[in-house]
Amino acid sequence: MQTLDNFNFTGQKAFVRVDFNVPLDENFNITDDTRIRAAIPSLKKILSDGGSVIIGSHLGRPKKAEDKFSLKHILPRVSSLLGVEVQFANDCLGKEAVEKSAALKAGEVLVLENLRFYAAEEGKPRGLADDATADEKAAAKKAEKANQKEMAKQLASYATVYVNDAFGTAHRPHASTAIIADYFDVEHKTFGYLMQKEIDAVETVLKNTARPFTAIMGGSKVSSKIEIIENLLTKVDNLIIAGGMTYTFTKALGGKIGNSICEDDKLDLALILIEKAKANNVNLVLAVDAKAADAFSNDANTQFVPVNAIPDGWDGLDIGPETEVKFAEVIEKSKTILWNGPTGVFEFDNFAGGTLSVGLAIVRATEKGAYSLVGGGDSVAAVNKFGIADKVSYVSTGGGALLEFIEGKELPGIKAIRGY
Ligand code: AMP
Repeated sequence: MQTLDNFNFTGQKAFVRVDFNVPLDENFNITDDTRIRAAIPSLKKILSDGGSVIIGSHLGRPKKAEDKFSLKHILPRVSSLLGVEVQFANDCLGKEAVEKSAALKAGEVLVLENLRFYAAEEGKPRGLADDATADEKAAAKKAEKANQKEMAKQLASYATVYVNDAFGTAHRPHASTAIIADYFDVEHKTFGYLMQKEIDAVETVLKNTARPFTAIMGGSKVSSKIEIIENLLTKVDNLIIAGGMTYTFTKALGGKIGNSICEDDKLDLALILIEKAKANNVNLVLAVDAKAADAFSNDANTQFVPVNAIPDGWDGLDIGPETEVKFAEVIEKSKTILWNGPTGVFEFDNFAGGTLSVGLAIVRATEKGAYSLVGGGDSVAAVNKFGIADKVSYVSTGGGALLEFIEGKELPGIKAIRGY
């Protein structure tokens, strides 16, 4: 398999799938350009070799071509970060895209309009009538899959090499993230630097695991994390459960949780996970105390209470001090750490303390030589908020893609290039 470093792009035209899905304000100013910055090293490598670049990306979740989702809004930032005045094709498939990509010279960059302006990118029919029959739905699906192949084929025809640097969409089997790779031989497709770093980080955690291996799973709901928790129970030595999930476990064990967030239909599952942890010799670490609030507000009255004795009308919004110590002890003895999800409602400063304490324990463990991977939207926001992003080993740019990768699923964007 090719790597970006081994490939000489001289005279080559690269179609680079990036994730420029950046947040924009109401005046279309970019409010966080992390994702654009993350792709710049790959783009610069291609250009400095003497290649040219055709950039494909999505922005938002458009259901049709819409100005507010146009990639034209981000062109000035891409130009300034790359140091090259980038060109733009106002359609990713039309005549303009074909002509501009054909005319592209070494050192030049062309940004294509939002790939998701076409339903074919995702390969899912849009605008199906609510009362469509099952046959009509199946026919529409089949037609869109065929369109998806055509779209992938056309995008591929613009370039001589395919580079995928969009880890955030690697779990999607889309035209530009996976299907397109079928139109390049194995010597002419490769991962970008960002994608390769993400793959290496997950594989360091899951394959070359230094032990003890501790995963900290936080966030709001058990239901969105079941698969990953089950998968981790076959891999980790310690599993710390934090955040809103705590209360589903606590209630399942017979505790009183007051008004705390809880998924009543997942109580049995919580007990099953506890049993599985025992059977697999995994040390399942649950909170022992909570910072409870009398309202879901930063200004609520608060008290520290045992996690299983939260008074009626009170809501556990963060872990308490005893739990902070308990979690930190486990984390600091670890050699591999995976962190996904806050321990509480960290968006409120008064309930961010537990998340900060976990972050700092991870930093201390990392200083002592542990490998720490932080991933998933909210934990990334948390490490950024606390200014510790550069003190952990790796902060993933992937949300869903990261979780699916850790769950052990094959990611279409990765498989399309390396075959597994
Ligand atoms: P997730 O998207 O599942 O990772 O969940 C992240 C969200 O969980 C954040 O917005 C937190 O505010 C929320 N969260 C964490 N702990 C709690 C809690 N104890 N009660 C309610 N929400 C929580």
